[in-house]
Amino acid sequence: MSILTKFQMRICIRMSSKIVFLDMDGVITNFSKRAAELMGIPESEWTKSDKNFWKKMRKSEEAGEFWPKLEIYPEAFFILDFLRDNNIEWYILTSPSLSPHAYFGKAQWLKNMFGFHFNNIIITKHKHFCAAPDRILIDDTYSKIEDFEKAGGIGILYPRRWNKNKDIKNGHEYVLQELDKHVRV
Ligand SMILES: [Mg+2]
Repeated sequence: MSILTKFQMRICIRMSSKIVFLDMDGVITNFSKRAAELMGIPESEWTKSDKNFWKKMRKSEEAGEFWPKLEIYPEAFFILDFLRDNNIEWYILTSPSLSPHAYFGKAQWLKNMFGFHFNNIIITKHKHFCAAPDRILIDDTYSKIEDFEKAGGIGILYPRRWNKNKDIKNGHEYVLQELDKHVRV
């Protein structure tokens, strides 16, 4: 075995000791675009606090229309490639809406995207139960990051216009830098 191969293997083993949890909506999927479409308003005007939206969303979920039309952020592929190229174990960790249809809709979307056998899916609002010192959560909701860190995990807040990292340009590059830093420790 060459020195280079041994070196590469060591990197590989070290990288795989961390587990990454990827949030779905706002990190890999463009939830705000889908939500704004549903409301018939520009994406920049959509806000989570709109109660009418959640009523309308529930109807759309029940009709089986909401989740299939969700789009992936093109930049999400940079993160997915990083995880694959560095042999990092990763899971989707996503919070459902109140509708039971959300569990099916999310699972179906993920299987359409990653294949029928993709099973690294955790659907729960209680993301902090997955926290541990060698576990990283990438999420766009600050309270989720806070709870995960309080429970002993590592959080990376994906920069979006609705969170405190909103001024960071090229959010995926920031996330990749942070991820790289943490998986190399
Ligand atoms: Mg999210």
